[in-house]
Amino acid sequence: MAESTDLDVLAIAAHPDDAEITCGGLLIKMARLGRRTGVLDLTVGEMGTYGNEQDRAREAAAAAKALGLIYRGNLEIPDSAVEYTHENKLKIAGVIREVRPELVILPHWKQRHPDHLACSRLSYDACFLAGLKKLDVPGEPFRPRKIIYVSYFRNTDYSFLVDISAEFEQKIEAIAAYESQFGNSQELKEKMKAGFSLNDLTASTGDGVFSPGINIYDLMFARSRHLGQMVGVTFAEAYTIREQILVGDPQKMPVQSM
Ligand SMILES: [Zn+2]
Repeated sequence: MAESTDLDVLAIAAHPDDAEITCGGLLIKMARLGRRTGVLDLTVGEMGTYGNEQDRAREAAAAAKALGLIYRGNLEIPDSAVEYTHENKLKIAGVIREVRPELVILPHWKQRHPDHLACSRLSYDACFLAGLKKLDVPGEPFRPRKIIYVSYFRNTDYSFLVDISAEFEQKIEAIAAYESQFGNSQELKEKMKAGFSLNDLTASTGDGVFSPGINIYDLMFARSRHLGQMVGVTFAEAYTIREQILVGDPQKMPVQSM
């Protein structure tokens, strides 16, 4: 495929809305830096409590626009049945060869939802396999240079945090595209712009998707604010890498100790 289709960044997620929720801020930030960003969803999310396949596809397209993506693919693997199989690895490897991302963002390798766990393992293997010359998948061999893992909902294991203060409102905009899942998006967006009144969180929905009493916008606000507070910014997202970082000049390391 022509070089112009190559991506800088590809996030791979099990369900539409996973990437928005867990790494939407970083995707928006990279797009604003002029990077070519994309999301590959493994399923259409048809097993979700609310909405049907058509709703979810339309909403994913609207969310892609809000994130500033130049690519959004869907492998249409059955939802809640994302199995760790060679066949699924090859499907993902085919996309890796097609869009040739330098950086890949995957779900963390510890997960509650089996689809998220399978997505993480399958995608890691696919990134490796895509580089094998003899792999029976169309396209030139290619291996991403770097994999980072989203740790947004984990309480440990962060390797670095990304300041998404300037991207937070747009991240909410992208999540609000999934109206069948989270509802009341217009009202909530207005509340966000008015300063996100913590006294008014009952306006949002999403009950039944997350634990009772917790709605997606409340969760986004609390989680991003908590992570931001750890590094002295308003809102942040957390990421983990499996390699060690080599530092040339410790005197210039970011973040003050006291
Ligand atoms: Zn999911």
